[in-house]
Amino acid sequence: MFDSFNRRINYLRISVTDRCNLRCTYCMPAEGIQLIPRERILTSEEILEITRVAVDLGVTKVRITGGEPLVRRRMVELVEAMANMDGIEDFGMTTNAIALPEFAKPLRDAGLHRLNISLDTVDPDRYRELTRCGDLVDAIAGIDAAIAAGFDLIKLNCVIQESSDEPDALGVAAFGKERGLQVRFIRKMNLATGEFWQVDGGDGGKCSTCSRLRLSSDGKLYPCLFSDLCYDVRELGIEPAIHAALEGKPLSGHKATREFNTLGG
Ligand code: SAM
Ligand code: SF4
Repeated sequence: MFDSFNRRINYLRISVTDRCNLRCTYCMPAEGIQLIPRERILTSEEILEITRVAVDLGVTKVRITGGEPLVRRRMVELVEAMANMDGIEDFGMTTNAIALPEFAKPLRDAGLHRLNISLDTVDPDRYRELTRCGDLVDAIAGIDAAIAAGFDLIKLNCVIQESSDEPDALGVAAFGKERGLQVRFIRKMNLATGEFWQVDGGDGGKCSTCSRLRLSSDGKLYPCLFSDLCYDVRELGIEPAIHAALEGKPLSGHKATREFNTLGG
């Protein structure tokens, strides 16, 4: 499918929850977030139906994100059902790795192709400071469980302030090299002020070739991360919402009033 600027749209990012087991400083405000009421969160059946329609319309790449996707219950079952769907060529998940010691192998066995794991530092004190509550030992155990589970590809996502020469970034680069994992540095963005950058080695932030639609965990399709425009799948119906999102997808983003956890970056 194509948007009104003739960009091919074949990538759906699905936020399965706005909840998280960490509180990263750049993602959530210190005072916490207004959570989506549980009864408004999409059911697994709804997520599968929306994905099915999107795939029938031309989506070939699906990424599950959050919040933290692994705090959602019955995630492995949902992944398995999606992995069995014809038409998805590239099926990944973005996670903070904290729950991977438990879930890496079941996710791999369920058919997930690849993982993007967020890791911004390998200094335990800095990790706690950046995540406000996380333990680096858990994240590293999760990364090692993912390596052992044999995913097609595991990338580390490292959010940086300014440059990949910062001490935290250098530490993550060395860790990635040691474990044989590709590291992508992502400059910290700000949805409220509209500061965003292209992601080195990725396709994020390149508006002219953007191929994405994003689904929030309460069923809204967002054509752009840096815009408040959204189309409610439950109100409009799945196919009309997808068509409206294609029509409404802006040429480039500006700013948005939500936090990162709503749409998963
Ligand atoms: N909880 C999962 C995780 O952290 O990997 C998935 C959701 S998280 C919102 C998705 C990605 O967005 C992570 O790689 C995270 O580092 C990134 N992210 C969050 N806030 C960001 C910001 N202000 N600027 C750039 N990337 C950000
Ligand atoms: Fe949670 Fe991911 Fe946001 Fe960190 S970046 S608070 S792990 S959703």
